[in-house]
Amino acid sequence: MANLNLKSVEQRTFDAIVIGSGISGGWAAKELTEKGLKTLVLERGRDVKHPVDYPTTNKMPYEFEHRLEVPLAIKENEPIVSRCYAFREDSMHFFVKDSEQPYVQEKPFDWIRGYQVGGKSLLWARQTQRWSDFDFEGPARDGFAVDWPIRYKDIAPWYSYVEKFAGISGNTDGLAELPDGDFLPAYPLNSVEAYFKEQLKTQYGNRHVISARCAHLSKPNPIHLEQGRAQCQNRTLCQRGCPFGGYFSSNSSTLPWAARTGNLTLHPFAIVDSIIFDEEAGKATGVRVIDANTLEMTEFYAQIIFVNASAVNTNQILLNSTSDRFPEGLGNDSGLLGKYFAFHNYRARITAEYEGLLEYRTDGRNPAAGGYIPRFRNLHRQETNFLRGYAGALNARRYEVEDRSGFGASLKEELLNPKWTNWKIGSHMMGETIPKAESHVSLSKTKTDKWGVPLVNIALDYDENDRNMMADYHEQFTEMFTKAGFTNIKTIDTGQAPGLDIHEMGGVRMGHDPKTSLLNKHNQLHTCKNVFVTDGACMTSTSTQNPSLTYMALTARAADFAVSEMKKRNL
Ligand SMILES: Cc1cc2nc3c(=O)[nH]c(=O)nc-3n(C[C@H](O)[C@H](O)[C@H](O)COP(=O)(O)OP(=O)(O)OC[C@H]3O[C@@H](n4cnc5c(N)ncnc54)[C@H](O)[C@@H]3O)c2cc1C
Ligand code: SF4
Repeated sequence: MANLNLKSVEQRTFDAIVIGSGISGGWAAKELTEKGLKTLVLERGRDVKHPVDYPTTNKMPYEFEHRLEVPLAIKENEPIVSRCYAFREDSMHFFVKDSEQPYVQEKPFDWIRGYQVGGKSLLWARQTQRWSDFDFEGPARDGFAVDWPIRYKDIAPWYSYVEKFAGISGNTDGLAELPDGDFLPAYPLNSVEAYFKEQLKTQYGNRHVISARCAHLSKPNPIHLEQGRAQCQNRTLCQRGCPFGGYFSSNSSTLPWAARTGNLTLHPFAIVDSIIFDEEAGKATGVRVIDANTLEMTEFYAQIIFVNASAVNTNQILLNSTSDRFPEGLGNDSGLLGKYFAFHNYRARITAEYEGLLEYRTDGRNPAAGGYIPRFRNLHRQETNFLRGYAGALNARRYEVEDRSGFGASLKEELLNPKWTNWKIGSHMMGETIPKAESHVSLSKTKTDKWGVPLVNIALDYDENDRNMMADYHEQFTEMFTKAGFTNIKTIDTGQAPGLDIHEMGGVRMGHDPKTSLLNKHNQLHTCKNVFVTDGACMTSTSTQNPSLTYMALTARAADFAVSEMKKRNL
């Protein structure tokens, strides 16, 4: 926290404080600074400046000591994060190491984190789909979890707002279950993905393969160039940080935009311990912050606070914000803070081969990762033995097979004319899970981290609904693959613990009633109106869609509301 005279209360007072600089915090920073608020962004990790702090971004594979593999010693020392597919030699520096940031697993939970300016926006796979009313109305229809206090029409304009700025590629597919957005051109399906799309259309009619919608600048608009970003070059080295700003991250987009307003103060190495509640004023006045390097505690003050530390950390901060008025955590009159925590279930997979279309092969790279099969189960009626549904990822490709055993001319000949495999097709399930009271995030009563903050305790597990859903996914995809003429079909249950899907949600859910929810329809704590939670912690249910686009839209919407309330002197 350099360049601050920390003794001066005035210098520690802002209009707004944003906790966390990842996907949702970046949006809060952009919106609040653009609306003229002097905004302090507090980030527990180090600074990562676009594009200079991407040390591996231009390296060739042979320039990595272990040719992009994670060394065995690190895998053994950091088993949880090593299980994440994106944890590789070229991206390791953007992931939290298990050994450095312990937590308590009441039940096995692979918690994947990015503690730095930009958070996980540097690492995400950039899949971005809107929710529809099939998703928002899920809990009201089947009675599991509480009713969402908003519907699609409330958030639709905000989806458009964030899509235009972030840049989302996609087609206009015209599906009620997956509303279209304000898209840049889509990345096309390859020949086998397109073949499967046609097969589903003729064999089922109501099952669809679409081009994956993705936060990449397939064809930038002036607003993207103004951010200093350029067209995606299809390098698919995104997890290294993209020097072109080809994909959306806080570092390339929202944070520099906020900085340009002159209203942003960004403090890396600032761990928010808790939020200060003033009993007399009946609202929050600021936050207590621990300097990650010196352990010194400092208070910062503001009129409004946006909590965007990512779902688990946001629960941790609120639970740790105790006062006489809120002995169980800020806003926690209902006793529900930390409960009804949920995740996405990516455990079920399927692979197959296709012996046709051998006149085609894959060449070049698709940063959108292929196709997406929107949810088709339990949309218009309850038709299965599980609640809600699943979407499917889909990709197909062929692989080069080289025989390197020869010498001289024969080896050269082989390398210059590699053989190709049949098409390999793969999909994984993206399943909605049902939030339950017993699934929770809480604080350890006995253990603290090296900064003195109680460790997070996570208790989540699969249930019968998840198992029935996985069985149905395997059954339905086996049927669809068989009808399409695919062979060698293999269903896989990875058996992975919850968490690796990296879509944690809930604990501070939105709802109509303060007795059964923590936040109102504007993401405002029911009982502490100047605190807003707009990351995954606010989610009432999980749906099947990748969640980050919805966090962005909710954040922009809540920031707009917060500033209008400030102007009316309601906060
Ligand atoms: C490999 C991978 C692939 C993914 N793919 C997708 C995808 O395709 N689509 C999708 O929608 N989502 C995807 N995600 C998930 C996505 O990254 C998250 O949903 C998103 O980043 C959440 O945004 P956030 O602002 O809540 O949290 P983050 O982006 O994680 O940011 C939170 C920030 O808060 C900081 N922080 C935490 N605690 C404190 C504290 N006490 N004080 C101060 N700062 C704090 C953290 O250091 C971090 O910088 C993926 C994630 C990973 C890792
Ligand atoms: S694929 Fe696009 S966004 Fe990803 S690193 Fe390459 S240029 Fe950047």
